[in-house]
Amino acid sequence: MEKYILSIDQGTTSTRAILFNHYGQAICITQKEVNCIFPNPGWVEVDANEIYQSAVDVIDQLFFKAKVTPASIECIGITNQRETTVMWDKETGMPVYNAIVWQSRQTADICEQHKKDEDVIRNKTGLIINPYFSASKIRYLLDHVPNGQARAEKGELICGTIDSWLIYKLTNHVVHATDVSNASRTMLFNINTMKWDDELCKLFRVPMKMLPKVYPSSYKYGLFEYKGKKIPITGVAGDQQAALFGQTCFDKGDCKNTYGTGCFMLLNTGNKPTFSKSGLLTTIAWQIGKEVTYALEGSIFVGGAVIQWLRDEMKMIPDSAASEKCAYHSLDKENNVYIVPAFVGLATPYWDNEARGAVFGLTRGTTRDEFVRAAIEAIAYQFKDVFEVMKKETDCSIHTLQVDGGATKNKYLLQFQSDICGLTIKLPQCLETTALGAAYLAGLCTGYYSSVEEIKSIHSFQAVYEPKMKSSVVNKKYRGWKLAVKATRVFKP
Ligand code: ADP
Repeated sequence: MEKYILSIDQGTTSTRAILFNHYGQAICITQKEVNCIFPNPGWVEVDANEIYQSAVDVIDQLFFKAKVTPASIECIGITNQRETTVMWDKETGMPVYNAIVWQSRQTADICEQHKKDEDVIRNKTGLIINPYFSASKIRYLLDHVPNGQARAEKGELICGTIDSWLIYKLTNHVVHATDVSNASRTMLFNINTMKWDDELCKLFRVPMKMLPKVYPSSYKYGLFEYKGKKIPITGVAGDQQAALFGQTCFDKGDCKNTYGTGCFMLLNTGNKPTFSKSGLLTTIAWQIGKEVTYALEGSIFVGGAVIQWLRDEMKMIPDSAASEKCAYHSLDKENNVYIVPAFVGLATPYWDNEARGAVFGLTRGTTRDEFVRAAIEAIAYQFKDVFEVMKKETDCSIHTLQVDGGATKNKYLLQFQSDICGLTIKLPQCLETTALGAAYLAGLCTGYYSSVEEIKSIHSFQAVYEPKMKSSVVNKKYRGWKLAVKATRVFKP
């Protein structure tokens, strides 16, 4: 009987189940939306029970749609939106509050109080003080759940990120665990010692006993019983790290960029953490056996979203795909238009919350097509800014970039990215890299895959882009971009 791996991808807006065959092909996908709750401006919460139920529903639908039996499932991989935090009653398995979503700003005040601890936190966790990470969310929950602190200290309340929550529920309340990649986003996990950190737990007054046990990303977590059949959960990783794994970026210097609404670049930095001076985050990529792999992470707030803006607000294009046509139509012109899409400030490496978007270089003859092309190029320039910092701060030699995400449909973007960075760009056959990464991790644990080399050998690409632009042109264009960013940042009326 052919065996498959079931991957659960729990994202911010939806939960998906994907069935992979041995060749890493996604043969069936089911999906269910998850409703976010916005109690106040900037706050984002979600009903943790709805998340669990959505996972159960997509699994049910997958078995129905793919017409497979539970016996044909080798194992389960879980990947999840990172940092989002759930607190629940250990006995009943009921959440005691909504889950607080990674984007939520409701713990900004708590973070403000810990500014003084910035250096300790960075050295131990590789993170910057920010409401994104779980520690301030756990503090918030302990403060807002009736008798929260006392109940947690008695061991009645426990907490975790979404992976922990799903593992707890899917194993029938038997296993309270997380993987190292998720733990590394909590701000309580010491990425040097690979343990929950006493000093950090004290800083946030989080009783250590409420935290999940931490295991490697490829590990036998527990059993999910489905229609009488026990299926092992054997792979767990946060979404960006799972995508790095799914892109087979197994070696130091391998990197991937996800071109979604925003962009996330991760660089495999090998077996030691590299700490950044420019606001890149240091994170654990995964652990297999005893071997820990670290990564550096850089983010861009507005990636594909600039194309949505052209479509929805500027009404310049009917759909995202039209952006590519515009770019190719304007190729006879030397484009000197720059759009800096700092709609919500600029992330890596500028970390400028107050900057706002700007356009430079317009003339009477500027056409819509050039304008749209400038927006696409802005995505690539922002990536180059992150890439340059990565190069400077590591001893990795980076030659290839593996890409995924919705905006990789745009061939002009990928060629321009290759040109402007001098990188070979590879687009994998299977674009579901996040779910695929969790599946690979799960399959490695059970022996479905014998080694990472075997995974590399079955992994295939649908397109490869090589740099073609002359370096003098690259330098001139990038100088223009840097000037545009500088001018943008000066404009603070
Ligand atoms: P997310 O997971 O962040 O929601 P996706 O990976 O689904 O994002 O990618 C969606 C983004 O990709 C949108 O911002 C959209 O504008 C962009 N996009 C989709 N198709 C294209 C295209 N052909 N050219 C450029 N951008 C595109």
